[in-house]
Amino acid sequence: MHCASSPRLWAIQEVLKRHDRVIPHLSGPGMKTVSEIFGEKTFSTRCMQEKLPKPVFEKLQDTIRRGQKLDRSIADVVAHAVKEWALENGTTHFCHWFQPMTGLTAEKHDSFLTFDDHGAPIERFSGSQLIQSEPDASSFPSGGMRTTFEARGYTAWDPSSPIFIMDGPNGRTLCVPSVFISYHGEALDKKTPLLRSMKALNDAALRVLKLFGNSTASRVVPTVGPEQEYFLIDRAFAALRPDLISCGRTLLGARPPKGQQLEDHYFGSIKSRVQAFMQEVEHELYRLGIPVKTRHNEVAPSQFECAPIFEEANVAADHNQIVMEVMRQVARRHDFALLLHEKPFDGINGSGKHNNWSMMDSEGKNLLEPGRSPRENLQFLACLMATVRAVHTRAGLLRAAIASSGNDHRLGANEAPPAIISVFLGDELTKILDAIEHNTNDRQDSTERMLKVAISLPEVAQDATDRNRTSPFAFTGNKFEFRAVGSSASIAFPMTVLNAAVAESLIHVCEAIEAHREKKVPFEQAVITVVREVIAETKAIRFEGNNYAAEWVTEAARRNLPNLARTPEALEQLVRPEGIELFVSTGVLTEQEIRARYHIYLERYLKDVAIEVDTLADMVRTLVLPAAIAHQGMLAQSLEAVSRVKGKAPEPQIGLLDACIHEINTLRERLDGLEALMQQLDGVDEKERAHRYAYDVVPAMAKAREAADRLEEMVSDALWPLPKYPEMLFHS
Ligand code: ADP
Ligand code: MG
Repeated sequence: MHCASSPRLWAIQEVLKRHDRVIPHLSGPGMKTVSEIFGEKTFSTRCMQEKLPKPVFEKLQDTIRRGQKLDRSIADVVAHAVKEWALENGTTHFCHWFQPMTGLTAEKHDSFLTFDDHGAPIERFSGSQLIQSEPDASSFPSGGMRTTFEARGYTAWDPSSPIFIMDGPNGRTLCVPSVFISYHGEALDKKTPLLRSMKALNDAALRVLKLFGNSTASRVVPTVGPEQEYFLIDRAFAALRPDLISCGRTLLGARPPKGQQLEDHYFGSIKSRVQAFMQEVEHELYRLGIPVKTRHNEVAPSQFECAPIFEEANVAADHNQIVMEVMRQVARRHDFALLLHEKPFDGINGSGKHNNWSMMDSEGKNLLEPGRSPRENLQFLACLMATVRAVHTRAGLLRAAIASSGNDHRLGANEAPPAIISVFLGDELTKILDAIEHNTNDRQDSTERMLKVAISLPEVAQDATDRNRTSPFAFTGNKFEFRAVGSSASIAFPMTVLNAAVAESLIHVCEAIEAHREKKVPFEQAVITVVREVIAETKAIRFEGNNYAAEWVTEAARRNLPNLARTPEALEQLVRPEGIELFVSTGVLTEQEIRARYHIYLERYLKDVAIEVDTLADMVRTLVLPAAIAHQGMLAQSLEAVSRVKGKAPEPQIGLLDACIHEINTLRERLDGLEALMQQLDGVDEKERAHRYAYDVVPAMAKAREAADRLEEMVSDALWPLPKYPEMLFHS
């Protein structure tokens, strides 16, 4: 048997032996259609209808539609139906599935097993078990909200998100999507504020609809379709990279001669091993009732995207968490490592999560889609401008909502939206807004002229396919696309902030229109006047140009737009008085809850960076330096031998040795400097430390990396222990 001379060569050999993982029943004869399997692992509306008495079914549907908590009186009946369905489907355990502030999901499994009065084993699941559970929650981050002596946290079923079954290798578990709150009712999770923000948006949007004469819509929900970007590399490579294992990104690695400059990967034909992965993921997701729709190669080599059909924000957020988890599990089966980090490789594109967002009423009408009548178009303009106003007034908070150490490497790099939040609307819409803005005449005939202008809106929406890929917040015809969200992030908080900000601005627009109405201004004229005011007031946030251009940074500063380049300063926004005011006034978070979040996010940032520094130091000391020193020894020995034979060492080869010695010394010095810096910051107050991490530590890591990467380009390939960029990115 041939043995590889190094772990790295072993990995390459492993990868060359890989086959596509083919699952016979997924294609070919006997396969089921997507509609047949869709949602089979969820307690769907169809299951509820089959299993529940009609009055209970109707009450439950009403609860779900109105986003309320379950009525105790039907809880036992519902729980019994859920249990029956779960047992028929082979589950043994149940759990409340929730989203603590870690950004991941959490679950604590309990068996259905219990004993009846005669001591005989039976399966039981009561209404109260369905509604509420009490995990030992003391180890979840609470930002100081929950001292450990009252560590109790409760999870409570959120009926608006479907109950589902999760497969384990040797059994199945029933998962009840839940909120997670403290003993005193404070939100300890990401779902509670999201639900509260949906309520705020609903109330505000319904008020707008009523103002426009719509009395039939009973509810408005934010809709979200998150496009998920990710990388796949072979597991054998990932296993040899401590940085990928501990940090999710490469902290070292010289750029490959071929990166993405040929632009040959984007939308290219999907390699069969990757396609096998995607197809299995989709199959699993369909069964879980997750409507994944699109798959394609992304810009960078080994980068891909998966996009679902949009759903209500809360369900979309749950589903996106499941998408990430299922992709991670299926990736292992295909011997892939899934990289969700925002910037796994230096020098090539990072990954984001484009959150397509709009608002839909209970009659299925999209509030960001122009209508047929002048009145519908006016309503569209009011909602559109309220959203633009929301981004304008709350740009800093939106930036804070997407802040993470990972996203810092992406925002502002040459492929991604920058840290400066702005809105792109497209040429046609801009023309219309300009026309409205510059028509300063408030008389009736001018209102009519403006209504005619607005009549051309439906076509505008259809042509609004002109894309500005560089904008962090772009209008794409009938929805906005918030592109700055990081690929690994939960969408819950960014969507919470967006919903809250839009709710606030919808109320502003309503009140402004109402004020004009009180002065007996005709309705249309009142709306046009307010729309014009908002257009004028929010001009600074609109930017149609290239967001990557250096001039934009200067221009944005001139416009007084926040440019919060790094996480610590972005997070600050959350606890400024204006920030707290938004959360409190919309009922989304109390001051204590938002302060707790600030601490959790800041602490998370500090930990992420500290782990990266430690990992980098370990890798340099135990992998890079030993390889470089071995190479140095080889050069020195060879020079010694040559001088023995030839009487003197050849100058150019001494140069090779000098360069190697020089880089080793540089790397040592930079690593020492980095570690000294960390030591110096030890014990420094969190806020100050975070700032120093962002502006001193992260750059110092990059400097150390430069020296290590130069060594990678110098040291004998046979001695290099770490999988290199070209093999990780192109072998699969
Ligand atoms: P595009 O080509 O503009 O990106 P797609 O139709 O491919 O548009 O949609 C991208 C994402 O936007 C999908 O997840 C889609 O479901 C979602 N989307 C479409 N309409 C809406 C909407 N009204 N609200 C939220 N998301 C939407
Ligand atoms: Mg898109």
